[in-house]
Amino acid sequence: MRFSLVAETLGYMEGTTKRLELTQHLVDLFKITPPEIIPKVVYLLQGKLRPDHEGIEVGVAEKIAVKALSKSSGVSVPKIEHEYKKAGDFGQATATILEQKTQTTFLKEDITVERVYDTLFRIAELKGNRSQDMKMKYISSLLNDASPAEGRFIAKIITANLRLGIADYTILDALSIAFTGSKENRSLLEYAYNVCSDLGRVAEAVAKNGTEELKHFQVSVFSPIRPMLAERVKSPEEAREKMGQEFAAEYKLDGERVQIHIQKETTILYSRSLENITSYYPDIVEKIGKAIKAKDAILEAEAVAINENTGEFLPFQELMHRRRKYNITKAVQEYPITVNLFDVMFVDGKSCLDLTYKERRKILENIVTEDAFARVMPMTIVKTDDEVEDFLENAINSGCEGLMLKQLDSSYRAGARASNWLKLKREYRNELGDSLDLVVVGAFYGRGRRTGKYGALLLSAYNEEEDTYPSVCKVGTGFTDESLDQIYQILSDKIIVKKDPRIASGLEADVWFEPEVVIEIVASEITLSPIHKAALDQIRKGSGLALRFPKFTGKIRFEKTPENATSVNEVMTMYNNQKKVVQAEKQF
Ligand code: AMP
Repeated sequence: MRFSLVAETLGYMEGTTKRLELTQHLVDLFKITPPEIIPKVVYLLQGKLRPDHEGIEVGVAEKIAVKALSKSSGVSVPKIEHEYKKAGDFGQATATILEQKTQTTFLKEDITVERVYDTLFRIAELKGNRSQDMKMKYISSLLNDASPAEGRFIAKIITANLRLGIADYTILDALSIAFTGSKENRSLLEYAYNVCSDLGRVAEAVAKNGTEELKHFQVSVFSPIRPMLAERVKSPEEAREKMGQEFAAEYKLDGERVQIHIQKETTILYSRSLENITSYYPDIVEKIGKAIKAKDAILEAEAVAINENTGEFLPFQELMHRRRKYNITKAVQEYPITVNLFDVMFVDGKSCLDLTYKERRKILENIVTEDAFARVMPMTIVKTDDEVEDFLENAINSGCEGLMLKQLDSSYRAGARASNWLKLKREYRNELGDSLDLVVVGAFYGRGRRTGKYGALLLSAYNEEEDTYPSVCKVGTGFTDESLDQIYQILSDKIIVKKDPRIASGLEADVWFEPEVVIEIVASEITLSPIHKAALDQIRKGSGLALRFPKFTGKIRFEKTPENATSVNEVMTMYNNQKKVVQAEKQF
């Protein structure tokens, strides 16, 4: 098939933004494309060679492309650069240069889609020292035979500048019209696409066999599935309206969604946008196999950074340190994670997409052997709004963002944002403006590098009216080795054998202290807590207030007595203020 037909379509499409017209141009092109070539055409239309998750990119540096154009056209590099600056677009510059081509070749080969695609594929695979020369050779040979209109789009594709923004769904519409006669069948194409995330594969299937093959599209290991998404709700009542009386509530952890594909010794990980992220998580690759009892599987999990000494979950930002090309081993040590599995889409050769949530959860619990690294996401079945509230409090106090609520009899709706999954976050999530000065009342022994020292401290605010020290958080973050040593020394002569009756906490510390030492803490917000006792029963019966994501600032407030510490009343004011801020924000 002549590449000029694709270039022509791309040219028409550049001239319109109307979706109907865009679709019609695609339909016309697909109808004249032989079925075996259709995947190549579909990828090229989006400036790609394969689906994104395979990570095959053309990506030629503009400098090399300019040199190649110079070689094939006989026009000097500075002249081309001048033309490029004038046009502001390398594709346009290439077309202009080719029009003025001074050097003509005698034997002109016809440019076919296959030739363009295969050449670009070879270029994408080139690596190493000599690759630049080879890339240049391949490109100049293509441009040598290209017409200005063809050269324009070849240049745009090789420099990753096609930018026509032809959406997946426009292509699915066009395929449906071209090969099944109407847009009605788009949902079948969409289903196939959601299951394999490969537009080329879907296009070939429908071009060769119409709708028949689409119905039988199979989930397979190493073809990522487009993830199911959740709708947002603001309250348990709203969730109940959408889901009925009984549903599952899971922790919603604040990490990175990872789709884990395992077969024999091979593990591949995909992100939420289906990018291959295996290289960022060598620890998952190494350890996950031990926790999964299955020959092959596709699972979903939230990878979350943790404080290894205390086991606390850390905010999402910590995970971003993993996003690097080099020194990944160091990053793995410095930013340890846990993997929290929440769904299974495929196991031992069979798809689980059509099973209900309940059935999938059961399979998940059966195939996962939990260890310190891999766990099944905490879940409970809830029947009342109070049960949702309680579980939400537990979740927030364990460092979660909120809850995911899931309908018990719903299938896994790949690629869909459906009301079978709801997310319930706290409505107020502002960073606290102020730091707090809190009294150290207890400590927990550390693990790992903190063995023999304290891994986390239990902190209290001061209740002036009752002269008591109700706890507000457990903190294990923000300490350097030195500050930890220093605090250990200072606290060593404050140890008391029995908890001081003025201390109130739902946590049992390993060591209790005389309430004397005051340290400074920052936190992301104040939440209700069944464990911590500051302002107990004041805002909600049975709940106190707690700090979320507390962090030691490094300051020991030697100048402060425990009576000067942040008071319970101040903590309550901070809690109420953060609510007001959110309400004020909502008005705008
Ligand atoms: P959001 O990014 O706010 O739309 O929330 C959806 C994201 O929450 C998912 O993409 C996951 O990364 C994450 N998540 C955390 N815990 C769960 C869970 N238990 N079930 C599903 N998604 C979860």
